Amino acid sequence: METMSEQAMRDLVRDVPDFPQPGIIFRDITPLLGDGPALHAAVDALARAYPDVDAVVGIESRGFILGAPVAYALGVGLILVRKEGRLPRQTERAEYALEYGTNTVEIHADALTPGQRVVIVDDVLATGGTAAATAELVERLGGAVAGIAVLIELSGLGGRDRLASYPLTSLLTY
Ligand code: AMP
Repeated sequence: METMSEQAMRDLVRDVPDFPQPGIIFRDITPLLGDGPALHAAVDALARAYPDVDAVVGIESRGFILGAPVAYALGVGLILVRKEGRLPRQTERAEYALEYGTNTVEIHADALTPGQRVVIVDDVLATGGTAAATAELVERLGGAVAGIAVLIELSGLGGRDRLASYPLTSLLTY
């Protein structure tokens, strides 16, 4: 198993001011994704957070990048929560406000069997709206959220409070 200091991982996240709009500091994880030991360490740490699950739920699109290897590491399946209009069959949908803009997310109505326990994986937790909408979709299908695991938590935006009813693990806090 790869290990890496928090600082070394943090050095691979780039702050991009005023992207995609003025006032937002975008946390760019592409250098971390491009670094083998860092990617390995991040995926291992996310997988260790909630190992006793039946499936991983990845949030489009950077949650897919991290969710797929977490699912592989845990030996469970990956369930996709996608932006509106992208899933081809019957869906459940939930609308929410983002740090910038609004969004609607969907899950295939048959993606989960009732009683399944899942971990929700995404790259960045900001206001928590995306993760809360995803948790709502999981619960509407009869699933249970064992935890939410994110690479980065933006602590000033209230996401952790909004998700207070769920266990939440973040690898890096800003
Ligand atoms: P939120 O719903 O506010 O928690 O926003 C989380 C979603 O928006 C995640 O899927 C992130 O990829 C993206 N996001 C929000 N704010 C940022 C940011 N400052 N830097 C990078 N991604 C962000």
